[in-house]
Amino acid sequence: MKKKIVAGNWKMNKNLDEGIKLTSEIATLIKDAPVNGVEIIIVPPFTHLTDLNKLLQDNDQIRLGAQNCNENNSGAYTGEISAAMLKSSGVDYVVIGHSERRTYYNESDELLATKVNQALINGLTPIYCCGEPLSVRESNSHEDYVFTQISNGLFHLSQESFGNVVIAYEPIWAIGTGVTASAAQAQEMHKAIRNHLASKFGHDAAGNSSILYGGSCKPSNAKELFALADVDGGLIGGASLNPEDFVDIIRSF
Ligand code: PEP
Repeated sequence: MKKKIVAGNWKMNKNLDEGIKLTSEIATLIKDAPVNGVEIIIVPPFTHLTDLNKLLQDNDQIRLGAQNCNENNSGAYTGEISAAMLKSSGVDYVVIGHSERRTYYNESDELLATKVNQALINGLTPIYCCGEPLSVRESNSHEDYVFTQISNGLFHLSQESFGNVVIAYEPIWAIGTGVTASAAQAQEMHKAIRNHLASKFGHDAAGNSSILYGGSCKPSNAKELFALADVDGGLIGGASLNPEDFVDIIRSF
């Protein structure tokens, strides 16, 4: 079933003590005024996962996500982290194909398809990111661009496996820029993505999938974005580093 999700991607920010403090503050704010029906995901650096898992062990609303995983099962891949390692550290979700990884680490759709497989085999839910750069948006080819990312990364999956995937649409021109997609742009793209998913996996599976919006989402615009018919939540970068802002965004549903 379609879930409402708000995930906070910390990227390479916060040392361990700061991460514990931020997580505790978020957990306290949520406990003091519970939010029902929203899956909250904290996506810290790898080094924090085990400690945060212990911190959150009695918390049934906040889940842990990782920012990446390797495409192999195990072996001689110095410096890499496998999906199985993440699972054994209490992780439930893994972000795959964030635009920063696609851009700075040259991650291709084909590579990402293998990471999606690793995540699923190991019982993690991939949050598969897609989104176009500004030049593509300006040339009005953003739908085709994003459809290709989705087809290449996900269309090898069975309908059943696809049921365990979350999509995050993140226009690159909106990430960390302070420029958010307008409500009309977000709804148009999310609806188009859902139709594209339906063409492969069927209307029910597409209708049940959670499609998150990412890109300068903040307390001032989250309510409008989350009210859109095809926006099922957000992948939040900068604003997830501030506990009040992150929880305000969660409460925007
Ligand atoms: C992101 O990096 O996934 C993101 C959405 O960042 P920001 O919210 O800072 O734009």
